[in-house]
This record gives sequence, C-alpha cells and structure tokens, in this order.
Amino acid sequence: MLVSAKEMLEKAKAGHYAVGQFNINNLEWTKAILLTAQENNSPVILGVSEGAGKYMTGYKTVVGMVNGMLEELNITVPVALHLDHGSYDACYKCIEAGFSSVMFDGSHYPIEENVAKTKELVAVCKEKGLSLEAEVGSIGGEEDGVIGMGECADPDECKSIADLGVTMLAAGIGNIHGKYPENWAGLSFETLDAIQQKTGDMPLVLHGGTGIPDDMIKKAISLGVAKINVNTECQLVFAEATRKYIEEGKDLAGKGFDPRKLLAPGFEAIKAKVKEKMEIFGSIDKA
Ligand SMILES: [Zn+2]
Repeated sequence: MLVSAKEMLEKAKAGHYAVGQFNINNLEWTKAILLTAQENNSPVILGVSEGAGKYMTGYKTVVGMVNGMLEELNITVPVALHLDHGSYDACYKCIEAGFSSVMFDGSHYPIEENVAKTKELVAVCKEKGLSLEAEVGSIGGEEDGVIGMGECADPDECKSIADLGVTMLAAGIGNIHGKYPENWAGLSFETLDAIQQKTGDMPLVLHGGTGIPDDMIKKAISLGVAKINVNTECQLVFAEATRKYIEEGKDLAGKGFDPRKLLAPGFEAIKAKVKEKMEIFGSIDKA
C-alpha cells in the first residue's frame, strides 16, 4: 500500500540520511526502482512529473500500475507516489487519482499567492493523509529552456511557507535540473544552513541531484536535506545501456529484438544507479 512521505522523511531527517525520489517514465522504470528499494530494504519515493503522467496516459494509469506492482512484487518497504513540480490543478487531479504525496510548485507565483494556494492544499492533504511538498525560490535548469546557475531561496520566505504546515520544503540553494554546466559554482551551504535554522525539523528537499558531487550531497544531508530528487541520471544510464546493446548488434542476433530483451540492459542500469544513490543517501536498511 502506498504511504505518505511524511513518516519516512521525518525519520530520515532525525537519522541524518535522505530518501531518494526517483522519477518514473514507464513500467520498466517503476519495476526497477521498486525492486531495488525492496532488495536494499530502503524507503523510496516514486516521482511523476506532469509530462510523465501524460506520457503514461494519465494519473489513474500510474496509480493502477504502481499499486499492482506493490502487490504482485510483494513490496513491503515504504513507497510514496509523488507528483513532481505539480501545478495547482495537477495536485487536485493526483489527489483524486490516488497519489500519496504531491508537490505544489508555486514558486512562479508572487509569495502571497504561493502562500494562499499552499495553505489551501495543506488542508486538503491533511484531511486525506497525503504529504505535501512546497517550493520556495525557483530551481532553474534546462526545464526553463535556459541553463541558469541556480537561484538561492530567501530563508525568511522558506520559514513563512514551512509554517503553513507543509510536509517538506524544496528550496533553491544553487542547484539546478538536468546536467550541471562546467562553471557551476556548487551548492550554497550558507543558504542551506540559514534555511535549516529558520525551519527547524522540516525535512528539506534537494532537486536536481544529477551531477552534484557525493561530498556535497553528504554535506547537504548533514544540513537537513532529507529527500533528494534523481531523474536525469537514470535517463542517462538507461540510454547508454540501450545504445550499447544496439551498437553491439545484439538486437539483430536471434530474438534480440524482443522488447523484453532490448530493454533489459537499461533496466539493469537503472537498478544499479538507484542502488548507488541509496548507498550515498544512506537509506539502505532504513525501511
Ligand atoms: Zn525539481
């Protein structure tokens, strides 16, 4: 059964480790992440962006697929199904469809409107038992069509959103989505420290986990980050493994064209990457 991310993240923050959010795109992705979590006795968060939700034909299909796998793969570790960077409307659609967690990305609204909409969603999510992630200070990157250096959130704004009763808070600390540019300045630990001091026990979320050096990840966890989003990195290893299979001509040998064979190396590559991340984040055996 899907669970809210609240308890797993509170435990992570108190225990100084982080739970990975791994974004899913299809059946192979979902199965690879769930099996890896179970094999390593780790809690896990499955992230679904609005685009991926649409790709998978809608949120109800996603919920049906994930719930089916939890049962048929005998998954017993805590699993949350989470809307990533949701609009106001998408949050309601996911709540309705059976997600156990949503992120309301109100970072593009003026702070007053972000507060008003977040407040409303806090009440709805509380009533229905979902966890809610809010974002302060936009997290840049290629999603916006521009590779930015990553903004830093205002710690006072973070506190005003945290005080509304959200479950976890994403704040820009120089992180960006997608691959990091060569001249990236790194994470601002000064900002992260200031945010943690203002928001206390609130689990903090680090977006754009791809390409942040391991020592920076560990330092971020020591400063209150309890959830780390990984998306691009699984896409890269999946594509690389699939390309290798085809370049080696394996799809032309015997029944190598069978999609179950063609997609197997990518599947295994995702599993290895997810395990590697769980080791770095410290979530293994924390289920
Ligand atoms: Zn993000």
